[in-house]
Amino acid sequence: MERRALLKDIFLLGITASLPLKRLLAQQKNNIRPFHQFKLGELELTVITDGSIRMTPVQPMFAPGIPSAAVDSLLVNSFRTTKEIDLGINILVIRKGKQTILIDTGTGNGFDGNFGSDSGWLIKSLTDAGISREEVTDIIITHAHPDHIGGLFNNDGSLVFPTAQVYLSAIEYAFWTLDKPDFSKSKMENSEQLKQILASTHKVLQVLKPTVHLFDDQTELFGCIRLQKAPGHTPGHTIVHVYSGGEELVHIADLLHSDALQFQHTEWGFSGDTDIALAAATRKKVVATLATNKTKVFAYHLPWPGIGHVRSKGNAYEWVMETYPIPG
Ligand SMILES: [Zn+2]
Repeated sequence: MERRALLKDIFLLGITASLPLKRLLAQQKNNIRPFHQFKLGELELTVITDGSIRMTPVQPMFAPGIPSAAVDSLLVNSFRTTKEIDLGINILVIRKGKQTILIDTGTGNGFDGNFGSDSGWLIKSLTDAGISREEVTDIIITHAHPDHIGGLFNNDGSLVFPTAQVYLSAIEYAFWTLDKPDFSKSKMENSEQLKQILASTHKVLQVLKPTVHLFDDQTELFGCIRLQKAPGHTPGHTIVHVYSGGEELVHIADLLHSDALQFQHTEWGFSGDTDIALAAATRKKVVATLATNKTKVFAYHLPWPGIGHVRSKGNAYEWVMETYPIPG
């Protein structure tokens, strides 16, 4: 009996190990976008990609006002190029029973700005992961920047997920619908890029206005999500605690944009931050808590699939990516 049980275990191990490999081979053959699946308590989580955003040169978008030698040296230390930072666009999909919840939607394909063909892959990536757009019941938007909200819209401005419920911070909604939102604490004041973002965000919020659900700090949703205000990147920028069966994952949205730079220097800003000093203060506080609590983290813009932990390093922190023996 013991030998039979052992053989059964070996057989089962063999099956579980071969499934991702089979899927990988099928993905390569059929030009399927990669996806990454795992469980969190009772929840089934899938990470899909909306593509990436290449940012070059690194400064002044990253670490504005910091001597370039210091920035370059940190990038070189992490074996990264000093010429650009390529932002991932990692989208988390949560399945709980019949509910399918998206957190952010990527850039979309042009209604609220054009990021080009390196992004806007949401629907193909969802389909390749075996999730149809009709199955999406709820969409949480961490903040109203075009690379997070754009995927809600088709090119003609109609909704990609017409039956899904959309959730956005009340503070965020109020800020972007002001006649003249305050960007005096940002490095983007009066820039062409800011004008574009303002115009597109006005447009998309007009479409969402009749149906969007506005949430406050610490709102709980669906018995598995808690929404925490983390202001600075935008006034209503929100991080998302996902929990089930005693396990937790924190989706940090745009708390930071470079693992090589901003864990070591949480005070180094990002020019896309609406309030660069407040963003730095929030980053420092949240990163410290994540390191202390050893919480599993999901990051929208860090290298694929954006999952890892934060570890203390001297007076600062570092990103420890979760690793996997094979894709899947
Ligand atoms: Zn972003």
